[in-house]
Amino acid sequence: MNTKQFESRVKQTIKKYNLLKKSDKVLVAVSGGKDSMTVMYLLKKFGYNVSALHINLEMGKWSERHLDNIKKFCKELKVPLTIYSVRKEFGRSMCSIKSIVKSHSNLHDCTICGILRRWLINKKARQLGASKLATGHNLDDASQTILMNYFKGNLMIGINEGPYVGIIEDKKFVQRIKPLYFIPEKEVEMFSRSKNFPVIYERCPCVINAYRHEVRGILDNIEKTGRKIKENIVKSFFKVLPKLRKEASTKNLVYCKNCHEPSRNEICKACQIIAKIH
Ligand code: AMP
Ligand code: ZN
Repeated sequence: MNTKQFESRVKQTIKKYNLLKKSDKVLVAVSGGKDSMTVMYLLKKFGYNVSALHINLEMGKWSERHLDNIKKFCKELKVPLTIYSVRKEFGRSMCSIKSIVKSHSNLHDCTICGILRRWLINKKARQLGASKLATGHNLDDASQTILMNYFKGNLMIGINEGPYVGIIEDKKFVQRIKPLYFIPEKEVEMFSRSKNFPVIYERCPCVINAYRHEVRGILDNIEKTGRKIKENIVKSFFKVLPKLRKEASTKNLVYCKNCHEPSRNEICKACQIIAKIH
C-alpha cells in the first residue's frame, strides 16, 4: 500500500461509517505513538477542525520524549494541544499508581492504566467541548481485542468494537471514532516512517508482560502464512455484532455515584481504582 492508497483507505472508513462531519470539533487522543500521530496528521490534512489531547503518564524519560514529539508535531501541524498530567489528576505517576493498585487487587498493569486513561480522556474531552474523540486503534488492536474476549469466554464485552464506538448514546459520552480501524499496524508504521513523523517506535515499557502481547504474537505468527486472519476475525465478528448489541441494549447505563461519569456499576471502575491509590 503506498501513501496515497493508505490515505484513501482512511478516507473510505470515515465516509462509509459516517465518522465525521465538517462541523465536528474532533479531539485526537495522542499518545505520541505512530497510530495516534497518524490520525492527527490525516484528519488535519483532510480539513477537519482538529485539536489534540495528551495525558502525561509521568513515566520518566519515556513520557518526556513523547511529550517533546507531540508538542513539536502539533506546532508543525498547527493543532492546538491540551495536556493533562496523571500526577496532577491522581497525585502520582502511572508507575506508582500501578504498583499500589496491584498490591491491593489482581488487576494487570495495562488494565489499570487503560481504565484511568479512558475515564480521564472522556471527561476532559467533554469539558473541552469536543463532539468526536478520535483514537489511533488499528486492525491489529481490534483483532487482538476480539480474540482476547473469545479466550475470556465473553464476546459480549466486545459490543463497543468498531470504527464508530458505542451503542449507548449518552450526553456524558463523547462519541469515539477509530479512523485506522481497518488498517494493519505494519501499514501504519510504514506510513508514519515514510512521512518521518516525530515518533518513537518502541512499545510502552510496561506492556512486556501483558496478555495482549501474547495474543499479538499468536496472530502475527499465523498472519505470516499469508492468510488475512486479522481482517477475517474482525469481519466475522461484525456479522454477529448486531445480535450481541440487541441483547446488550437492554442493560442500562447508570452514572457513578462518586464521580457521576457513565458507568455499568454503582461505582465506576476508575473510582474503584482511585480509591485504592489514596
Ligand atoms: P492503547 O490503549 O495504548 O492501545 O491506546 C489506544 C489509543 O488511546 C491510542 O491510539 C491513543 O489514541 C489513545 N491514547 C493512548 N495513550 C494516550 C495518552 N497518554 N494520552 C492521550 N491519548 C492516549
Ligand atoms: Zn466514578
